[in-house]
Amino acid sequence: MNKIPVLEISGLSFTYPDGTLALNNLNLSLAAGETLAVSGPNGAGKSTLLLHLNWIFPSALVKVNGRPALKKNLREIRRQVGLIFQDPDDQLFSPTVYDDVAFGPLNLGYTKAEIDERVAGALLEVNLTSHAQKPPHHLSFGEKKRASVATVLSMDPLLLVLDEPTSNLDPSNRRKIINLIKELPMAKIIATHDLEMIIDLRARTIILDNGALVADGPYDKILRDEKLLTEHGLELPWSFRPRGKSA
Ligand code: ADP
Repeated sequence: MNKIPVLEISGLSFTYPDGTLALNNLNLSLAAGETLAVSGPNGAGKSTLLLHLNWIFPSALVKVNGRPALKKNLREIRRQVGLIFQDPDDQLFSPTVYDDVAFGPLNLGYTKAEIDERVAGALLEVNLTSHAQKPPHHLSFGEKKRASVATVLSMDPLLLVLDEPTSNLDPSNRRKIINLIKELPMAKIIATHDLEMIIDLRARTIILDNGALVADGPYDKILRDEKLLTEHGLELPWSFRPRGKSA
């Protein structure tokens, strides 16, 4: 069993050029296979945190599988961390779904046979095998979201980072993406306001506010704490409300 945390963040602070302190002394460790939900009000620092998890804001204070997330480790880290954007149109840019899913492995120099195998595996995982030759803009929104996941699964990452994976999905497509997240064995970080999804995933949950980590614990401790939630711009999820109680 791999004892090195997949992700380790030690005392990370980040200030934008205009002086906004977006992350304030953040400490976080994630084990292999662990699922972590990150919630908090708008402006809490969730996006800024996600931008530290691949090459966009490199920092030695963020370690991926024991290596600092610095430019010199970029190639390795981009393979190990798969970031899935909230808007699939930011992720899909090739003429076909196949090309988008092949893009990562192609850049890593795999052979054609290896690439084909990786693309087939990733598309099977997200149930889009029959859509390989379609242009991504012909997919439904739910299919695009799943195709986005396939573009990183083809890299066989250690850590999947998903930004609001259920946003704008109808109930049936929301269910599909939640089931997909449940099935995937690697570690996951999910930034979301969908507290019911967090309950469904039984995820460890952290709450960020003003760039600081204000809570870290099991979902059924954090998401039952009404005082904590309301203090940080959230509400008690429906499943944890006493029967008949509205917000
Ligand atoms: P969240 O994703 O939780 O809504 P963000 O990480 O986007 O939070 O934002 C954290 C803080 O950083 C907010 O105060 C936001 O206004 C600020 N911020 C985000 N992006 C920039 C930027 N490019 N320049 C200056 N401030 C920014």
